[in-house]
Amino acid sequence: MMSPIEKDKVVLLGTRGSCPVSGDKFHKYGGATLSVLVRLGGRPLLIDCGTGMLSLKKNLSSNKKRLPVLISHAHLDHILGLAASSFMFESGNSLDIYGKTITGVVGNNANAGSNSNATGGDIATQIGALFSRPLWPVGLNVFPAKTIFHEIKIDNGTMLNAPEGFSVRVLEGNHPGGVCVFRIEGAGGACEIANGVSADGGTAANAGTNSETQGAPKSLVYCSDCTLDDATFALLKDFAKDCDLLICDGQYSESEWPEYKDFGHSTWNTAVQLAKDCGAKRLRIVHHSPYRTDAELDAFQEVMSAMCEKYRAEAGRPDLYDFSFGCDGEEIIL
Ligand SMILES: [Zn+2]
Ligand SMILES: [Zn+2]
Repeated sequence: MMSPIEKDKVVLLGTRGSCPVSGDKFHKYGGATLSVLVRLGGRPLLIDCGTGMLSLKKNLSSNKKRLPVLISHAHLDHILGLAASSFMFESGNSLDIYGKTITGVVGNNANAGSNSNATGGDIATQIGALFSRPLWPVGLNVFPAKTIFHEIKIDNGTMLNAPEGFSVRVLEGNHPGGVCVFRIEGAGGACEIANGVSADGGTAANAGTNSETQGAPKSLVYCSDCTLDDATFALLKDFAKDCDLLICDGQYSESEWPEYKDFGHSTWNTAVQLAKDCGAKRLRIVHHSPYRTDAELDAFQEVMSAMCEKYRAEAGRPDLYDFSFGCDGEEIIL
């Protein structure tokens, strides 16, 4: 008996940037930092391990034991969830963590020179630096769940050791210390059930080979921390062309930009322009400032919705421009 392939979807587990927040002013959009669960071709994949990772388990099927993870970069707001996610406290679970040391940046980021080598080492060393005393009492090897690190190998922009069932392209973003921007697609023809192991990594009761596919593979571009200066914008416009979903840094407003232009992030207006220019079907703005209240995001959303309405009218395409600010827990069917 074949198992039905679940829809390709993305769950935004955490959308806040820089630092987790809580309180009445952050209920709607949430306060957990970046972590995104992707399911393409029936296979799950996690991107980044911010505090949104604390809600990982409830979004995984119960037999989930082994999960691949792509890390954009090892800044605290993208790895802190590893310290407390319930997934880490179950023996028999394991994470295959893929990351890359990037020491340069493109574009004109003023911080690049002084900070570009600040982290150093491979991805295991970078993340391991947090999980060692005095910053944390136990190393990752003490958690019941296993962590297996893989340095991302790239040839001509293609990730050579992409997790099984996924095709991944990698672009170097513009962020102090470097960041990976990912374009992820289901590898096509992927099986929900194959060789007795489900795509979730658990043992399937109904093992067999499933030849069902979902048509053309869906594509997701994850650009979490990046200054979209002219050079980077041009690269991203091509890299993200016609993607089904663009998840993009839009931490600041235009009025804040002069003060924060060297912080390694972007304005939401520039992210909207990028999504429009690259032909993204959907856009979710993420990396909300820790000071950004629900009321402020609602006000920005109102402006963005009016922009999208205008774009749809101009294009005569009511189906386009599904653009919004991401919320913690939001599920997006691709
Ligand atoms: Zn960040
Ligand atoms: Zn960062």
